[in-house]
Amino acid sequence: MSTFDGIVREFPSIRIDNFTSYPDEPPPLACFLSHVHSDHLKGLESFKSTFVYCTAQTRELLLRLEKYPHRMNFAKGILESRKQTYRRLKNHIKPIPLETPTEIELAPGYSIRVTLFDANHCLGSCMFLIEGNGKAILYTGDLRSETWWVNTLIRNPVLLPYTKDTRRLDNIYLDTTFTSSDTLEFEMPTKAEGLSELIEKVSQYPSDTVFYLNTWTFGYEEVWIALAAALRTRVHLDDYRWRLYSSQRDQPTCYGPQTAPLVGYKLGNHEHPGCLTNSLEGVRIHSCERGTRCEVFQNPRVVWITPIIVRHKGHEIAEIGAGGGQGDLNQTHSLELYDQGTVQQLLMICRRVLQAQPDLRDQMTQWFSTLMKSGKESIDLDLEILRDEVEHTSQDGKPVDEFDMDNLPIDKLVPALTRLITGKSDQEAEDRREQQREITFPFSRHSSYLELRELVQALRPKDIYPCTVDPSTYTYDVSMEMLFGDVCSANIFHADKEIHAELGIKEPEADDDDDDDDESQRRTPSPQRSKPTSIPPQPPDPAPEHARIEQTIEMPEVKATQSRSSSTIRYETPGKRVKRPRSARSTPGSNKSERNAHMNTMFNAALGRKWEKGYLTSVNGYHNQEPEKEL
Ligand SMILES: [Zn+2]
Ligand SMILES: [Zn+2]
Repeated sequence: MSTFDGIVREFPSIRIDNFTSYPDEPPPLACFLSHVHSDHLKGLESFKSTFVYCTAQTRELLLRLEKYPHRMNFAKGILESRKQTYRRLKNHIKPIPLETPTEIELAPGYSIRVTLFDANHCLGSCMFLIEGNGKAILYTGDLRSETWWVNTLIRNPVLLPYTKDTRRLDNIYLDTTFTSSDTLEFEMPTKAEGLSELIEKVSQYPSDTVFYLNTWTFGYEEVWIALAAALRTRVHLDDYRWRLYSSQRDQPTCYGPQTAPLVGYKLGNHEHPGCLTNSLEGVRIHSCERGTRCEVFQNPRVVWITPIIVRHKGHEIAEIGAGGGQGDLNQTHSLELYDQGTVQQLLMICRRVLQAQPDLRDQMTQWFSTLMKSGKESIDLDLEILRDEVEHTSQDGKPVDEFDMDNLPIDKLVPALTRLITGKSDQEAEDRREQQREITFPFSRHSSYLELRELVQALRPKDIYPCTVDPSTYTYDVSMEMLFGDVCSANIFHADKEIHAELGIKEPEADDDDDDDDESQRRTPSPQRSKPTSIPPQPPDPAPEHARIEQTIEMPEVKATQSRSSSTIRYETPGKRVKRPRSARSTPGSNKSERNAHMNTMFNAALGRKWEKGYLTSVNGYHNQEPEKEL
């Protein structure tokens, strides 16, 4: 999940992927959006200052996103609902085609040049190369930096000059989702390998088998195309998801490599359909939202397909929530929590309703305590559970016909929260696995550390800024200097210094191998900035009125959990993971040179294996180059 604050130090008058307004900062002169995952849209709902540039695909998806925040009206005892969209930004969001250098005038006499590159992450996702005032940076957004993709990228004529020693990028703002100490060693199969595995598995089922592909966010478009082609069928989407994707068909500027395979095209006078449909006729694959009550959810023989990130040390690392964007393809219903008083009132209602179930009541109390400590401002609500509550019962127990989320009695939230807490859906997933009605396959939308090194090594930038930092697991071992220092062209690492100052981490004394570092660069002081840093604020201290609950509850330890009947591990989102003891970390060596040597060995070993399997092309041959002089 992105923790980037949106501010680019080389171009302070622009903002990327975070639209929060900071009191100490002037409003930006231009904004950029890399893709539609919700962790990159912070502050956009109340944004109103300038143009936002993105790809045409991202623009059309963004303008059709719908969210339903719910506010509790305790005086009336009901939930009040409203629909939230980004449609009011219609005239502010400007599409730029990929790989086309575009001058943007920020102020009279001050322009920047922006070039967008595909990021291999989800439909419409892109990176931004920004040049101007003698500076150049690459902002990656979220990306999957597979070997073939890096080789293609560095052949681009606009980026090509930055692969040479004569001109280096000043900074890469990098998707560091999988560079924390517990994800650093992931070795992910390519997307193509993951899709091959999936196709092999589905082909072993009888030809009338119906499959449900569990997609919760944007980024599985290739999986739909692959499955539909292999099974010669189409993929059912609910009306909301269909509206999002079919928006691409009506906009000629949206045409990219995936557009026609997904939503079709016109061949002469004939409409040639894509693989997606909102019709149920003859479909064998479903990716409709669970709360929409498609017939597939009544079919006990459905085979579930669940993407995982990677298989690591004998475990499958579950994908849900990893890297942000969880639930972005759903019509998100969320419960707004304005302050701790709101949470406290809701807890009182839950405790009253659950009076006859003391175990559940205590479990609920403990969950609320964790929630209060987290400082969260909203809870995601499961549409399926809420529909059950609204459609099947009314206050006097009689069925009601209309699904009306507005004016729902607050008491109805209690069963929904109970199911959230007791993890019914986890149990369902375990049952499916036991009955062999679930297929998993690796398909990561973010890069492994080894893949990121390939990108950095190809461009050898002067500095790297990590766009995902998890303060709860951060150590000096995962600083940008430690992870990428040997493949950068200078030794600056401004972000490391900011993070270390913020977290109180002492940097070790320079080793002998630093002797030939660029001294002028190393002495560059870290500028004092008034803007907020990339580290999220610590949860507030509990208010005195909650002290009683805090004191009586033993906080549950939050950690990676392994399900009983399978080896799937649920990936814990940043901020929740438990800091591992130093002895458990993987990076050996007591000084920088030893640790860099270890990283190089790991990297080269992985590359060697890929070479043997023939995955790397030598089109550009940058892996074969003589190593450049280490600075
Ligand atoms: Zn993303
Ligand atoms: Zn369906």
